[in-house]
Formats: sequence, C-alpha cells, structure tokens
Amino acid sequence: MHRIDAGTKLIGLLGYPVEHSFSPVMQNPAFGRAGLNYVYLAFAVAPEDLPAVLDGFKAAGVAGLNVTIPHKEAVLPHLDEISAGAAHAGAVNTIVNENGRLVGYNTDGAGFLRSLEVDGGVTPWGKTFLLLGAGGACRAVAAALATGGAKKLYIANRNYSRAVDLAESINGIRENAATPLRLSVEELARRSPECDVVINATSLGMRPQAGKSPLPDPAAVLKPHHLVCDLVYNPPRTLLLAEAEKIGCSTLPGEGMLLYQGCEAFRLWTGMEPPEDLMRAMLRDRLYPANLFDAV
Ligand code: NAP
Repeated sequence: MHRIDAGTKLIGLLGYPVEHSFSPVMQNPAFGRAGLNYVYLAFAVAPEDLPAVLDGFKAAGVAGLNVTIPHKEAVLPHLDEISAGAAHAGAVNTIVNENGRLVGYNTDGAGFLRSLEVDGGVTPWGKTFLLLGAGGACRAVAAALATGGAKKLYIANRNYSRAVDLAESINGIRENAATPLRLSVEELARRSPECDVVINATSLGMRPQAGKSPLPDPAAVLKPHHLVCDLVYNPPRTLLLAEAEKIGCSTLPGEGMLLYQGCEAFRLWTGMEPPEDLMRAMLRDRLYPANLFDAV
C-alpha cells in the first residue's frame, strides 16, 4: 500500500453496517496501481447521523463517497446536485466533491448493464425482463434497462405498492414500459414465458440468508431460454442460480455488477480508467475462499 501523507485524498463509504463491504479491498489497490494518492475507508453511520456526517465530510473537503444500505435514498436531499441517472433511479451510490459541491450519481444501473452485456452477452434493447424486487438496487437496474431500450419490464415485489410505485416511475421514463406484479407463483408463471431475462433484485439469497430464494417454486417460473441474473454477490452462486442451472437456464451472478459499479465510481472520482483486471482479482480473492465452505 502507498504511504499516506498530508496530500492523501479520502474516499469514504457510508453505510450501516459497513464491515462486510468488498469495496475497500477493490478500490485501495486500484488507487495504488493507478499511482493515485487516495485512500478508501468505510464508515458505519447511523441513519440519524447521516446529515451531520455529510456536512462534516463536505467541510473537510472529502474527494468522494460511496453510499450503501440504508442511506442510498436518504442522502438525496442533502446533496448540491443529482445526476439524471441518479434522479431516475431515485437513489445515489456515489458522490463526487466537485469544487466544494457534493454531486450524487448512481453507478449500480450502469454496472448491471455492463455485466449483462459483457458477462451475460445480452443487450437490453427489445428484450422483456422479469424483475423480482422494488428496492434501491432494483430501481437503479430498472431505470437503466428502460433507458437502454428494454421492451417490457415486469416488476414483482412482496410489498405490491412498491412495485406499483416503481412501475409508475419507469413509465415516466418510457410510457407503458413497466407493469407491476404480485410476487405470487401464479402471476410470475403466467408472465415468465414471454420474458428473456429474470433478475433477482431482492436481498434473498445474500448471506446470512444464503439458503433462501425469491422463487419458492423455480420450476413453475423459470424456462430454459431464460438468462437468470442475481444481484446478490455473496455467495457468488446463490440458491436461485443453482436451481436455474438445473432447469437449463444460463446464469449471471452479481459479482460483475459489483465490479463494474466500482469501476464506474473510480472513473467519476478520478477521471481515470480503473485497473479493471486488478479490481476483479481483488474481488474474487475475497469472494471465492468464503464460498468454498458455504456453497449451495
Ligand atoms: P433494499 O432497498 O433493502 O430492497 C430489498 C428488496 O428485497 C425489496 O424489494 C424487498 O421487498 C425484498 N425482500 C427483502 N426480504 C424479502 C423477503 N423475505 N421476501 C421477499 N422479498 C424480500 O435493498 P437493495 O439495495 O435494493 O439490495 C437488494 C440486493 O441487491 C441486496 O442483496 C444487495 O446486496 C444487492 N445489491 C448488489 C449490488 C451489486 O453490485 N451486485 C449492488 C446493489 C445491491 P419489500 O419491498 O417487500 O420489503
């Protein structure tokens, strides 16, 4: 690691909790490889402390921030400017200090699109998607898919009113692009045959809920022609992806999205191209040893 001195610039991660984040192990070596005098540190910030922490970091001249659960939506009113992509997503995961102004971006949607295209071999244009979830990550992915020319998005969520809200906001980007669904086997089974891609954007399947799947009856919903994507990256091979493979689907784990959203944040903070191969290797180093003991 490079030597920290009086000129070192700080990038902070704000979340609650943050100790399980993979971003510090990905970003610090990347700064070092790029010859940048930056350091990336994680801060556990309780929701009631968020406004004061943002003010403090701004006053101290922080170079940038990442924002994770539960602050991605709560930061919006405290920022000086919000990018169009973050406004569409209704959530911010990356903040850049641009000459003393905190500007909010969302790199989750772009990260997912890049993983879909590069790792999954699929472009959204003209495709039909079944999205499971309606939380912050789902909002970012849905907005990116709609902007990227997806033909149709079915959005199924446990809390149906959140699915309705998200579908309405997507239809504000492109008329009639989204339809809300209830998270019931019957509704999913009726719509899934016309879908090209199924995406889990719920937190089910993420450690410590690794044994859980958003689809209690996967055979009723998944078809061999589906590409099944999971935003969950830990464990890398979720129960949903294991079940999808048995049905004959192709699969895409959340690891690529995590890598590419981090690469995009690196670009925004530094204006430089990130050392993507190094960041992928650092991420894999953290992801795969754990998986050896807890594979599903
Ligand atoms: P969030 O805003 O808290 O949303 C959680 C979602 O999961 C909601 O739709 C929620 O439904 C649903 N859910 C939770 N428990 C459920 C249950 N028991 N049954 C059915 N649905 C349930 O979280 P988020 O930020 O969107 O993150 C979602 C997942 O994406 C997390 O696992 C996160 O780690 C992952 N993620 C990955 C990346 C990446 O780079 N790969 C980036 C961002 C997020 P309700 O609305 O009904 O509560």
